[in-house]
Amino acid sequence: MTPDLWLETHSYFGPLAKLSAQVDRAAAGIDVLDARIPDWEDYRADFLVGVPLLPSTSAAVDLEPGGRMAGALLEILASGTSSGWLAAETRALDTEMRREPQVSRRIADFLLGDETLRPPFPGLLRYLAWTATARFLRPLVNAFDAWRDEERWLRRYCPTCGSLPAMAQLVGVDPGRLRLLSCGCCSTRWRYRRIGCPFCESPDEHQLSALAIEGEKHLRIDYCQFCRAYLKTYNGEGSESLFLADWTSLHLDIIARDRGLKRLASSLYAL
Ligand SMILES: [Zn+2]
Ligand SMILES: [Zn+2]
Repeated sequence: MTPDLWLETHSYFGPLAKLSAQVDRAAAGIDVLDARIPDWEDYRADFLVGVPLLPSTSAAVDLEPGGRMAGALLEILASGTSSGWLAAETRALDTEMRREPQVSRRIADFLLGDETLRPPFPGLLRYLAWTATARFLRPLVNAFDAWRDEERWLRRYCPTCGSLPAMAQLVGVDPGRLRLLSCGCCSTRWRYRRIGCPFCESPDEHQLSALAIEGEKHLRIDYCQFCRAYLKTYNGEGSESLFLADWTSLHLDIIARDRGLKRLASSLYAL
């Protein structure tokens, strides 16, 4: 499925598609700084007890260059001549961030949960900063994927940044079919149990139900009858960048909300 073909049947996503393309274009224009790959043996003990990579002091990954890339992305978006809300809010953010000493470090800490930074548009900063930082982290995420023993993680939060999943994906064919969880922040995908709810971690396989969506062959809503949380699930392979983008399935969030289900998944699109 190509984004253009998909947009033909989901024309109401036009403005979001434009926003996303604009931000991605700007992000593609910034220099990618080098991420140091940690010595995995230093990190192993933390990994085994469930400490994600970025907050681990043993792995000691420096996220500051990601914060620098985020600052560069802000600057590009703020310097345009466009008069839309994105340009206006980005300019306000950029001006505010420039007042901050050690701004790259502050943004990096903000992404990992530091609440002392109070930007004027926190949702927008989170979205833009993760977009830039995910590019910085890509080689690290790939190296981590290659090193990580998935059987030893199987946790409900991202092994890289610690966020709750934005979505899930089913891959392969039975009996070896697997469920992956997908991080909306740093773009890591990791393995989770095939059955059960990743929010309340109820292991009861009968408590998770799948809701098919008319007109969506590749997407469904899995929800937990126990805690009422739901997880959007991409039931296919090959179009991850489209179907796991989270914003391309916001209509499923509306359907879920109308049914009284709770979004506990992490989202960068609560702008
Ligand atoms: Zn993550
Ligand atoms: Zn649950």
